[in-house]
Amino acid sequence: MTTCWVPGAADTPYGVQTLPYGAFRRSEGEQRLGVRIGDFVLDLRGAEDADLILAGGALSESTLNAFLTLGRAQWTTVRRRIVELLTEAEHRAAIEPLLIPLAEVDLVMPFTVGDYVDFYSSEQHASNVGQIFRPGQPLLTPNWRHLPIGYHGRAGTVVVSGTPIVRPSGQRRSSDGPVFGPSGRLDIEAEVGFVVGVPTVLGDRVPTDRFADHVFGVTLVNDWSARDIQAWEYQPLGPFLGKSFATSVSPWVVPLEALDHAWVPAPAQDPPVLDYLREDDRRGLDLSIVVEWNGTRVSEPPFAGMYWTPAQQLAHLTVNGASLRTGDLYASGTVSGARRDQVGSFLELTWGGTEPIKLDDGSERTFLEDGDTVTITATAPGPAGSTVGLGDVTGTVHPAR
Ligand code: MN
Repeated sequence: MTTCWVPGAADTPYGVQTLPYGAFRRSEGEQRLGVRIGDFVLDLRGAEDADLILAGGALSESTLNAFLTLGRAQWTTVRRRIVELLTEAEHRAAIEPLLIPLAEVDLVMPFTVGDYVDFYSSEQHASNVGQIFRPGQPLLTPNWRHLPIGYHGRAGTVVVSGTPIVRPSGQRRSSDGPVFGPSGRLDIEAEVGFVVGVPTVLGDRVPTDRFADHVFGVTLVNDWSARDIQAWEYQPLGPFLGKSFATSVSPWVVPLEALDHAWVPAPAQDPPVLDYLREDDRRGLDLSIVVEWNGTRVSEPPFAGMYWTPAQQLAHLTVNGASLRTGDLYASGTVSGARRDQVGSFLELTWGGTEPIKLDDGSERTFLEDGDTVTITATAPGPAGSTVGLGDVTGTVHPAR
């Protein structure tokens, strides 16, 4: 790997092995696209204006969507060029004025979300939820090993990391019948999101081996969930208002090229899946996720063990001919490992709220309280022993209105 000349960037999770894309605003400036390098953001519009990067104007837009439509060949070409600019000494004088300290910018939503789909692809998570929500019944529903279960979420309430999360109100069950009020069981779901770049036309399918032709990259997701609202409303059509009030994403979209060294064999599937879900080489991503609750590290969910892969999810999502739009976001579903300290939701961490956990300040929690902050981060293995950072997605709970 070539050495980056940007001060402090080499040997960090945000060296040239990563180069995630985002959008930023300076105090009085307009929204611009940027690439993170170390603790700086490279102003991509400035680089395009100076003909340092050629992307047909796509990087001078205020969101990533135009760039997302360009496709893998151009995504890779632009990435290679950015690596050149940040590693070759001859470009330093031209690029240095375009590097803005992260501390001087506000990071904003980097892409306009098309449709938002959320899957349910962790066997451990699905089994845990089955035990908590449907005790005495089989852990997994009969369809679970035959298709990646998902639902369509609310694209308009996907928000960038740092957006306040107002506690939702809604109906929940009580012993005297349904009551209305603020959720008392507000929870998180630590997930990994996949951002679609190249669209399809109605009627087309995306087979598993075309995943990388359509998916641009990865972003961390917190699928906030009101468990009491969810438990009362979710049968028979699935999650609705218990999820749609807010879904937070990282301000950074990490391109698939940065994750070339993170692919690992996915778990074997038994029984065998139908042909359209088959992959010659089933691969998952070895992402190490960390969940912090008010600064206390409460869980480290491993993404590598997910039962359904992102390529299978995309194949399933389009097998009926549903088209893809640029900016579509599909999330993995809550990532949970086998151990209690590897679960991706507080529902599981506190076993339905029956086993409180203690935070570092000595306080106890079952579900989120007003003022609580949750931060989800992740890393992946990069080339030559380096680490790829996936940014973070954070949010603070505000009182119900
Ligand atoms: Mn979810």
